[in-house]
Amino acid sequence: MSGGDMAKPLLGHQSMEGDPSITPAAGRTIGVLGSGDFARSLAIRLVCSGFKVVVGSRNPKRKAGLFPSAAEVTFQAEAVKKTDVIFVAVFREHYSTLCDLADVLAGKILVDVSNNTEINHHKESNAEYLASLFPACTVVKGFNVVSAWTLQSGARDGNKQVLICSNNQEAKRTVAEIAQVMGFTPVDMGCMSSACEIENIPLRLLPAWKIPIFLALGLFLCFFTYNLVRQVIHPYIREQKNKFYKIPVEVVNTTLPCVAYVMLSLVYLPGVLAACSQLYYGTKYRRFPDWLDQWLQHRKQIGLLSFFCAALHAVYSLCLPMRRSHRYQLIETAVKQAVEKKMNIWVEEEVWRMEIYISVGIIALGLLSLLAITSLPSIANSLNWREFSFIQSTLGFIALVISTLHTLTYGWSRAFDENQYKFYLPPTYTLTLLVPCTVILAKVVFSLPCIQQRLLRIRRGWEKGRYVKFVLPSATGEYSSGETSSNV
Ligand code: NAP
Repeated sequence: MSGGDMAKPLLGHQSMEGDPSITPAAGRTIGVLGSGDFARSLAIRLVCSGFKVVVGSRNPKRKAGLFPSAAEVTFQAEAVKKTDVIFVAVFREHYSTLCDLADVLAGKILVDVSNNTEINHHKESNAEYLASLFPACTVVKGFNVVSAWTLQSGARDGNKQVLICSNNQEAKRTVAEIAQVMGFTPVDMGCMSSACEIENIPLRLLPAWKIPIFLALGLFLCFFTYNLVRQVIHPYIREQKNKFYKIPVEVVNTTLPCVAYVMLSLVYLPGVLAACSQLYYGTKYRRFPDWLDQWLQHRKQIGLLSFFCAALHAVYSLCLPMRRSHRYQLIETAVKQAVEKKMNIWVEEEVWRMEIYISVGIIALGLLSLLAITSLPSIANSLNWREFSFIQSTLGFIALVISTLHTLTYGWSRAFDENQYKFYLPPTYTLTLLVPCTVILAKVVFSLPCIQQRLLRIRRGWEKGRYVKFVLPSATGEYSSGETSSNV
C-alpha cells in the first residue's frame, strides 16, 4: 500500500505558506457580503484572527444578532465602502442582484467563495462569472474548499488548505495573507482558469476510492454467488434441504475472507507485473501501460478495503456461536452421539487444524491492522522511507504469506475430497489461492540472486543495450574518456 499520495498536499501546487512576500494582515478591515452560514463562520474566524469585519446584508437589523458583537453589520453598499477586500458569501444565482453595487465595488478585491451543486455545472466557473459581472473589480477564487464548520472550529480541526487562484498576483497575495493569518495554508493554484477545478473539488465523492470499491463489490458478488450455489442451492436441489438460513451470516462470512485475501494479493500483483515489464524491456524508463499505472496508484485503497473485509470476517466469525442455528446443531450432534453411545468425539487432526487456523488468522489480521494504521498520513509522515517501505512492502508480503497459511489450514485436505465438489465446483478456498500463490511464487523467483541483481541494476538506472560514457584517470593523473556498453 502506498501512502505517498495521502502524505502530499491536497493538490500538488505551490504552497504559499512561508512566502516572505506574505506579511501579517491582522487589523485590516475585511468585508463580507451575505449573512448566511458561511458569512457568519467567516466573520467569527476573521474577528478571532484580529481583523475588523464589516458585514453587508440586505436586512442588517434582522441579521446583526447572529454575528459577534465585534463585527459591524450594515447595508451592503455601506459595508463595501469601508473596505478593499470583500468576501462574496452569496450563491451564484444571486450575484446579479449585487450589480447595483458595481460603482462602489470598482477597484476592489472580490473573493469568490461559492460552490456548485454539480461538477462542471456551468460553462464558466462562478468566479469567472462574478468577474464578468464586475469587470472593474479583481476577483480571487478561494476558501470554497473550507466548510462553514471548519471556519468556526478553527483550522486545527479541519482541512487546513485554502486553494487560491486569480489573474492578479497582488490580489492573490493579499487573500493568501488573510488565509495565513486565519491559520490556514494558502495554496497557489495559478490563474483564474483553475477556478473551475477548485470549484469541483468539494463535489468529488471519494475519487481515489471508486475503482477499489467497484473491484471489492465485484469480487464480493462473484464469491457470494459461488458460495450461495455451493452452500444453499446445491443442498436444496440435490437433497431437498432448506439451508437458506445460512445466507445472512455463513455465506457472507465465507465470502468476506475470499474478498479480503484476493484484494490483499491485488495490492502486490501490480508490483510483480511492473517488475516483469522492467525485466522484459531492460529499463525502468519505459512508461507502464495506463491500466497498470492506475492500479499501482490504487494499491493503498485496495489494501484498506482488504483490511476492512478481514475485520468484518473476524467479527462475523466471533459471532458464529451466538446463532440459534448453531446451538440447535450442537444439541442435535450431542443427542445423536448419546443415542449412538459414542463417548470419544475428539479428533486430534481437526483440533490441531482449528488451533493453527485461528492463530494464523489472528496474526494475519494483526499485520493487516498495522499496514492500515501506517497508511494514515499522520503515521506515515512520522516514518522514514525505509521504515515505511519495510512495513508496507516486507510486512505486507508476510501478511499475504500468513493469510495463505490461514487459507490452506482452513481448506486442509478438502481439495482432495470429491464430496466437496458441488455441481463439480471446487471449494471456494482453492479458487482464492490462485492469484495470491502466483504473487508469492513470482516474489520467490524475483528473490533469486541472478534476477534480483538484474532488477536492482535496472531500478538504479541501468538499461539493456544502452552505451554509457565513462571517465578513467590515466597513469599521469589526467582523465581520459571512452564509451562502453552497460550490458557488459
Ligand atoms: P446561505 O446560508 O443561504 O446564505 C446566503 C446569503 O446570501 C443569505 O444569507 C443572504 O444574506 C445573501 N444574499 C444576498 N443576495 C441574496 C438574494 N438575492 N437572495 C438570497 N440571498 C441573498 O448560504 P451559505 O451556506 O452561507 O453559502 C454562501 C456561499 O458560500 C455560497 O456561494 C456557498 O456555495 C459558499 N460556501 C458555503 C459553505 C458552507 O459550508 N456553508 C462552504 C463553502 C462555500 P442577506 O439576506 O443578509 O443579504
